[in-house]
Amino acid sequence: MDNFDVVVIGAGPGGYVAAIRAAQLGLRTACVDAWRDARGKPALGGTCLNVGCIPSKALLDSSHHYHNLRHRLPAHGIEAGDIKLDLRKMLARKDKVVRTLTRGVAGLLRKHKVESITGHAALAGGGKIGVTPHGDGARRTLVARHIILATGSIPIRIPVAEVDGDRIVDNEGALAFSEVPRRLGIIGAGVIGLELGSVWARLGSEVTILETLDDFLPAADRRIAGEALKVLRRQGLDIRLGTRVTGARAHDAGVAVGYDDAEGSHEGEFDRLVVAVGRRANTEGLDPAAAGVELDDHGRIVVDAQCRTTADGIWAVGDAVAGPMLAHKASEEGVAVAERIAGHAAHVDHAVIPWVIYTHPEIAWVGQTATELDAAGVEHREGAFPFAASGRAQGSGETEGLVKVIADAATDHILGVHVLAANASELIAEAVVAMTFHASAEDIARTIHAHPTLAEAMHEAALAVDDRPIHI
Ligand code: FAD
Ligand code: NAD
Repeated sequence: MDNFDVVVIGAGPGGYVAAIRAAQLGLRTACVDAWRDARGKPALGGTCLNVGCIPSKALLDSSHHYHNLRHRLPAHGIEAGDIKLDLRKMLARKDKVVRTLTRGVAGLLRKHKVESITGHAALAGGGKIGVTPHGDGARRTLVARHIILATGSIPIRIPVAEVDGDRIVDNEGALAFSEVPRRLGIIGAGVIGLELGSVWARLGSEVTILETLDDFLPAADRRIAGEALKVLRRQGLDIRLGTRVTGARAHDAGVAVGYDDAEGSHEGEFDRLVVAVGRRANTEGLDPAAAGVELDDHGRIVVDAQCRTTADGIWAVGDAVAGPMLAHKASEEGVAVAERIAGHAAHVDHAVIPWVIYTHPEIAWVGQTATELDAAGVEHREGAFPFAASGRAQGSGETEGLVKVIADAATDHILGVHVLAANASELIAEAVVAMTFHASAEDIARTIHAHPTLAEAMHEAALAVDDRPIHI
C-alpha cells in the first residue's frame, strides 16, 4: 500500500492545481487521472485542456483569423487573393496546442514531486482508494489522510438526439470534424453552442441553433444578451429560441431533426448535429457511497462552504460540486482546499467569479445583473458606455458592444459589471479586481485609464453611474 498525505482524484484544472498547491505546502501528494486522448494515451488537464477551454479557444482564434481575412480586413484596405482553408492543418495546430499544455501539466506535477498515477480511482472507505490502471497493470491501493475529489463533469445526454460520435456529436466531436459541415445543427444556445457554432460558421457552415428557452442567455444582462443575439444573428448564426427537439435520426447523408416551435412542427436536415445541452457532475465508477460521500438530487457531490464532503477527510472541488462549471472556479477551490488541509485559512469568493463567452464580440460579466438585483429588492444605479463612442474601438473597427457598471444606489459599491466587446475576456479582469476589493463606481471613475484603449469604456461607464460620462 502507498501512503500519502493527499490523494487527488482527477487532473483537470481543479485536481492538478490542488495537487501542485498541496505539494508546495510540503504535503506528500499523488494525483490519479483516467483521461485518455483520441490515440488512447493518458493525457492530463481534464476536460478543460483536452476537449474544452483550450482546443475551443484555439479553434476560435484560428477561425477568427480566417473570417477576418475574408470579411473584415478588406475594410482596412487589405485584400488577399486566393484565400484557402486547410482544415487539417488548423486541427493539427489545435491538437499540438493541447499536447503542449497537457505535457506541460505532467511537467509541473513532476517538478513539484507530485506522484502522477494513471488509471481509474474508486473510493473504498477508511482513507483507501483503489486504482485500476488502463491495460493489464496491477491494481493499486492508495491510502491518504486527505482525499480531494476533482472528477469533473460529462455532457448531458438527451434521448431525442443520441450521440453516435459521427453524425451526432458532443463537444468532443465538434472540435474535430474532418471537413466543414455545409449545414450544422446545434441543440442548445448555451456557451458551447455559441462558441462552437461561431467556429464553424466562420469556416463556412450554415449554422442553426435550436434552443428550448424563449430567452437568450438568461444568466446574462438583458441588454447585453439582446445586443449579442442581434450581432450573432448578423454573423449568420440562425438562433431559434423557443424550440423543442422531438427527434434526430442519423442517416448516410446527414441527420434529420424534428422540432416544434410556436409556428408548428418542422423537419431540419443537417450534415452534422452537435448536442450541447449542459453538463453534469461525473462520479461514474467512483463509488462515493463506499466512503460515505453523499450526492445531491442532481448527482453533484455535496460539500459545505469549505468544500468538505459528508465524509471526514474527503473534499471535493470543481465541476463535480455545485456552482458554475468554470475552470478558474475549479482551480481556486482546489487551491483553497490544499491550503485548508495544510492548516491555513483560505477563502474563495464565489460572488466574484467572472464568466466569459468567447464569441466575437466576447460576452463577459461578474457579479449580479439588474434583473437579479430587482428581484432581491436592491436599489441600484447603472452606467453604460457603447464602444461606438470609443476612439480606440473606432480605430480598430471593433465598435460593437458596450460596458455596463451597476452600483449600489446607497453605497456606490459595484454590484455587477457586464461587457460585450472584442476583448471582454481581458476587460472584465479590471472589474473582478475592483469588486474583490469592494470598490465603488467612483473608485473606477477616479482611476486613470490609458488612452486610447478599450478599457476607457469601463472608466466612462463608471462615470455614467453618476451621470457624468465625458464622451457620450
Ligand atoms: P475536469 O476538467 O472535467 O477534469 C476531471 C478529470 O478527472 C478528468 O481528467 C477525468 O478523466 C478525471 N476523472 C474523473 N473520474 C475519475 C476517476 N474516478 N478516477 C480517475 N480520474 C477520474 N471553462 C472556462 O472557465 N473557460 C472556458 O473557456 C471553458 N471552455 C469550455 C469549452 C468546452 C467545449 C467545455 C466542454 C468546457 C469548457 N469549460 C470552460 C469548462 C471547464 O472545462 C470545466 O469547468 C473544467 O474543466 C472543470 O475542471 P475540473 O477539474 O472540475 O474537471
Ligand atoms: P449551457 O448550460 O451553457 O447551455 C445549454 C443550453 O441548452 C441552455 O441554453 C439550455 O436551455 C439548452 N437546452 C437544454 N436542453 C435542451 C433541449 N432539449 N433542447 C434545446 N435546448 C436545450 O451548457 P453547455 O453549452 O453544454 O456548456 C456546459 C458548461 O460548460 C457551461 O455551462 C459552462 O459551465 C461550461 N463551459 C464554459 C465555457 C466558457 O467559460 N467560455 C465554454 C464552454 C463550456
